[in-house]
Amino acid sequence: MGSKMKNKIDIEKLKNIIKSVVSTTSDEISCSDCQKEVDKFVELNLEDKEIPEAYSLIEAHLNQCSSCREEYEVLLTALKEINK
Ligand SMILES: [Zn+2]
Repeated sequence: MGSKMKNKIDIEKLKNIIKSVVSTTSDEISCSDCQKEVDKFVELNLEDKEIPEAYSLIEAHLNQCSSCREEYEVLLTALKEINK
């Protein structure tokens, strides 16, 4: 009887492990995903709003992708000029 109980717990554990693996591997987004959201990310930055957690993916991508980083900086500079 005890072993049946143990199995159930292991399945729950396994689900949690799978969940955490899935969420870590989805930590990477593509350049096109990044470019779709980067303007919103720039706006949030300029408005000093709280950045939603989802945007940490954008931030992570910008830190490792120089072409998206460049686009982000161009947008940021342009919007700062507009808002002056
Ligand atoms: Zn990129």
